[in-house]
Amino acid sequence: MEFRDLKTQYQKYRHEIDGAIQKVLEKADFVSGAEIRILEERLAEYVGVKHCISCANGTEAMTLVLMAWGIEKDDAIFVPDFTFFSTGEVVSLRGATPIFVDVDPHTFNIDTIKLEKAIQRVIKKGELKPKAIIPVDLFGLPADHNEIGRIAEKYNLLVLEDAAQGFGGSINGQKAGSFGHAATTSFFPAKPLGCYGDGGAIFTNDDQLASLLNSYKVHGKGINKYDNVRIGLNSRLDTIQAAVLNVKLTVFIEHELEDINKIYRLYNKKLAGAVGIPVMPTGYYSSFAQYTIKLNNKSERDALKTKLSEHKIPSMIYYSKPMHRQEAFNNREYDESDYQVVNQLCDTVLSLPMHPYLSEEEIDEVCSLILNR
Ligand SMILES: *Cc1c(COP(=O)(O)O)cnc(C)c1O
Repeated sequence: MEFRDLKTQYQKYRHEIDGAIQKVLEKADFVSGAEIRILEERLAEYVGVKHCISCANGTEAMTLVLMAWGIEKDDAIFVPDFTFFSTGEVVSLRGATPIFVDVDPHTFNIDTIKLEKAIQRVIKKGELKPKAIIPVDLFGLPADHNEIGRIAEKYNLLVLEDAAQGFGGSINGQKAGSFGHAATTSFFPAKPLGCYGDGGAIFTNDDQLASLLNSYKVHGKGINKYDNVRIGLNSRLDTIQAAVLNVKLTVFIEHELEDINKIYRLYNKKLAGAVGIPVMPTGYYSSFAQYTIKLNNKSERDALKTKLSEHKIPSMIYYSKPMHRQEAFNNREYDESDYQVVNQLCDTVLSLPMHPYLSEEEIDEVCSLILNR
């Protein structure tokens, strides 16, 4: 069994994917080829925003936005404590300070009450300038963007939606990638929409930001890349990756997103009552980058992981360490009482095999091992 099955997907769409790659090889326009523009237009339309700017990966997508916003030393950026390292890394890379905020025990997303308290504390202390919030759509479920938007407006903060895992999710029909002042996603192979290497994109309705980002991602270009008006990066998506994504976006929209939600419902039906199952608040739709259950304690979780692996069923612990406990962030003091939920989640969560090509028999096999512990 595969944790995320990229091989079956390739076998099913081999003809289309090979053809799309072949076309780029024949034209030899490996950088900034026609497929890039086509992909960006399709992605912007799907997400429902004016601009999509493709780039090298999801981490640089966030870095580019922080660069364009002029985030620097002495700025405070509010980030959930339960996420992939990148979300905090990009803040520190700019010399700013990530303020880690505890998460909601049910949705796993940033706790908006604790977020507001954290903002007020930074203001009161007066050492750092609150500048932005980076909510994460963890495991595919959009964060509480309505409440985050209200808080951002109240404290005059920018919002960067980290939709690396969230592409395809929505709240009352509004798609992930369209919340906040800018949003980013990742096309790392295992993400909801993945390419065959690294890739990423930025979404925004802000014309001025879009034009800045198009400059920052190509060496701070002015008229062209030999006219350089600012210090930037080399952060482009390869044409071959865009060609692969153009095929995969079609099948993602046609059936993959619906199929993975069917699998979510099957899992939930079988596991309800036996373990903590993922929740989707009313009006929310998830792209299920992960299907993550909760056990009662660490020894139960670790025992289940071992049992599954004895039966050759892969499972993963996303995440085993909160951000505030990463060695890279140990330059600051943290009060553990601020992180009670995340500390417990890291000991009790387990992500099960989850992808659109999982069969009912496979789901049965995983669930019967969990139910007959
Ligand atoms: C994967 C991921 C990223 C980074 O994306 P890359 O394309 O791997 O750089 C950022 N944030 C979250 C929440 C992620 O899961």
